[in-house]
Amino acid sequence: MNAARIAKELYGIEAVATRLNGEFDDNFHLRGEQEYILKIMRESCDRAFVEMQIAAMEHLGQSRVAGGIREYHGRIVWMLHSLPGKLLADTKYHSQRLLQNYGRLLSSIDRKLADFDHPSTRRELKWDLKRASWIREHVHLTPDPALIERILAMAPDLSKFRHSVIHGDGNDHNVLVNGDDVAIIDFGDLHYTATVCELAIGCAYIALNKKDPLMAMAQVVRGYHDLEEREIEALFPLILLRLAVSVVNSAHLKSADPYTTISEKSAWGALRALSTIHPRLAHYVFRQARGLKPLSDWVSPKAAPVMHHFDSAVVLDMTTATEMPSPAGPAIGRYNEARTFYTEPMFAGRTIHLGLDFFAPPGTPIFAPFDGMVYAVANNTKHLDYGPVMIIQHDSFFTLYGHLSEIPLPVGTKVKAGQEIARVGDRPGNGDWPPHLHYQIIRDLLDMGCDFPGVANPDMREVFAALSPDPAPWISKDPTKEETLSARRAHLGGNLSISYDEPLKIVRGWKQFLYDDAGRAFLDVYNNVPLVGHSHPRVVEAVQKQIAVLNTNTRYLHDNIVRYAEKLTSKRPLKVCYFLNSASEANELALRLARAHTGREDVIVLDHAYHGNTTTLIDISPYKFNGPGGKGKKPWVHVAPIPDDYRGAYKRDDLQAGAKYARHVAEIAERVKPAAFIAESLPSVGGQIVLPPGYLRDVYESVRAAGGVCIADEVQVGFGRLGSCFFGFELQGVTPDIVVLGKPIGNGFPLAAVITTPEIAASFDNGMEFFSTFGGNPVACAAGLAVLEVLEEEGLQENARVVGDYWMKALRGLDCEMVGDVRGSGLFLGVELVRNRSTLEPASSEASRVVNLLRERGILAGTDGPYHNVIKLRPPLCFSKEDADRFVEVLGEVI
Ligand code: PMP
Repeated sequence: MNAARIAKELYGIEAVATRLNGEFDDNFHLRGEQEYILKIMRESCDRAFVEMQIAAMEHLGQSRVAGGIREYHGRIVWMLHSLPGKLLADTKYHSQRLLQNYGRLLSSIDRKLADFDHPSTRRELKWDLKRASWIREHVHLTPDPALIERILAMAPDLSKFRHSVIHGDGNDHNVLVNGDDVAIIDFGDLHYTATVCELAIGCAYIALNKKDPLMAMAQVVRGYHDLEEREIEALFPLILLRLAVSVVNSAHLKSADPYTTISEKSAWGALRALSTIHPRLAHYVFRQARGLKPLSDWVSPKAAPVMHHFDSAVVLDMTTATEMPSPAGPAIGRYNEARTFYTEPMFAGRTIHLGLDFFAPPGTPIFAPFDGMVYAVANNTKHLDYGPVMIIQHDSFFTLYGHLSEIPLPVGTKVKAGQEIARVGDRPGNGDWPPHLHYQIIRDLLDMGCDFPGVANPDMREVFAALSPDPAPWISKDPTKEETLSARRAHLGGNLSISYDEPLKIVRGWKQFLYDDAGRAFLDVYNNVPLVGHSHPRVVEAVQKQIAVLNTNTRYLHDNIVRYAEKLTSKRPLKVCYFLNSASEANELALRLARAHTGREDVIVLDHAYHGNTTTLIDISPYKFNGPGGKGKKPWVHVAPIPDDYRGAYKRDDLQAGAKYARHVAEIAERVKPAAFIAESLPSVGGQIVLPPGYLRDVYESVRAAGGVCIADEVQVGFGRLGSCFFGFELQGVTPDIVVLGKPIGNGFPLAAVITTPEIAASFDNGMEFFSTFGGNPVACAAGLAVLEVLEEEGLQENARVVGDYWMKALRGLDCEMVGDVRGSGLFLGVELVRNRSTLEPASSEASRVVNLLRERGILAGTDGPYHNVIKLRPPLCFSKEDADRFVEVLGEVI
């Protein structure tokens, strides 16, 4: 069939045609001056059927008809404008927002179609879930007839449900995606049926190829408004039913039409995955997604004490514990606490503790809190499982007792409140935990018996907290993230920014990982302050030891400060140190030194630079004084162009780029006779810029020739991060007159330094005392010393070189139009995103989206650069090749 010729003949359009998938009709994509979809309908297609589709699209206010109904050799032909975007089926990562938007789209279509009707929508369609029983006679053709039969048996009676015309085929080849926006095409399956089928069909396709199909579908449900409670209850069985219809249809029609088998393998995968989920659990999850309580409110009957002598028990905080403690006296472990020590593979990311722990010596008796009957017992012998465990059934709920000494009572035994029922077990038989009772209330066992989990996945926290309510609501809890956020809003300045659309509450750091309040681990590729790794034990120990003995100021002699100064300057050109608490203070002091030495005031800075938060530093930071809320440039400040050889006036292929950018500085220096030139040795806020060769050599030469001094702000890049050198200025083969250090040098402990020449130090020593109360204190210097020692002993600069090179290569290998440039050195990299590789139009909103999606996927990155389109990578230096691989893989999926 020559679609191009038909388009030309019927609509006078010159275009190249490509065939699209379709079950009955022949559809073509036409690319001419514009893009169209040409639809050549099946033989004997009723004209009313096409009119129905056109009427529905008009009713929805999205008519895309580009060419009205015609006939070609007896077949009906019509043409639509093509929509931009790619198919959902071809989209690698479905973000939560995208899935919610998809639910929202289906919901808005159904709302609008509620008052739409057309005779052709009353039809016998095999995809109408109300008619799904037709598959019964074909189940034997499938590899798992029993599963299909089970699904058919679960199918709800929809006769009393609200009915309307639905789109009826939100499959992943009918959904177009643009970023997180979605649109739906192909109204050829419109039919009148129970409205909830629309969402069920959409969810069924969203379940395909997902690691966690239930949570993905929950996002769609979250976006779909106007669901009645009974519709929510019917949803999961209907989703299974749609997948069942799909696989039976494929089996039935196999060989006849390859389009119908397009998603067969994925549909079986989804069916098998979903069939392991208890339908009531799915129901609770969907209720939660719709903002309803998963279960009705819990009212606890009066309970007798489960263990005696616990009135004055210590309440433990295990949020950040690395293993379960073994307390000496009675102690309680909290309910709904996220714990980072559930790291064994069997926990599979589950972190939320669903019961109470009662720590007591082995053999301590346990008592029934309520009347009941033993419902189930088992010995779960797997390492870190419950060991001997018992479930007692009460009126309308159950209680679970884990880590017992032995299976105490047979199933069916009646128990009275207050009666002894079991004893605390011991290692190793109790699952190999410190002796304690795990006590949990369970409102719906979900047919899991003694395998009901005691720890839940963070994504299911609310649902499992409803299933297993709090046995001791009077025990105090940590503030939730929402409470922390609102307290912060009440008491902290509004312009303290918070990263990500969905704020993070981080409770623990370890190496290159950060853990949030739900115990989720995030790979940190952003924070350069924990240089040798978050909470490095050597640094922690050094600080703890020193602060326990002495912390005072530099007016007394102390060996830490001199040892640190010696180590910091050994093998390096500059020798005189000043210590402060923050890089802002250090840059501020650097300016004072330069001004004292030159007797001048003017400063040359690079465009988009940031040097700190004090009044003077805001004045020399174009990123701030030219940014929102900025008050513009002061007359003593002179801004030179940032030597960005990707986006700037002189490009990377220009061997003279360094010299040409440097000439701008020379011109200013000659004219204004500055006190100083200050720049980061690789401008970070400016967009992770690598200075072109020869730049600083020429700049320093001209500034010095004009009588100024050269300050290197090494706050972000210094200290081994760049891999091939310890300080950034070494990359350019220069030595500054003043070096400023901060952020990473204390690995998180406040510490900053200025290092300079004896001559400049002498000029500053003019009679006025220099004193910083905390600067250079023994604790800070102990931290600084430990950082230098760890850097050397763990070979972290070399690791930055090896892993950084590997990572940069992998990033450059990404097959993605939007990645315009990958640059940097060692573990200081920038990935610049552009919409167009010729115009370099910055992909700013896209970069922000990517960073938020990375966060959604457990990776913390940030953006920077004048257009906020550079993804900034500067992880702790213990970052590994595996971490780099993971980053590149996930970036490739979300971008
Ligand atoms: N200089 C540079 C290059 C920086 O990036 C920063 C902080 N972002 C500072 C100085 C100021 O550091 P602090 O906030 O620790 O005072």
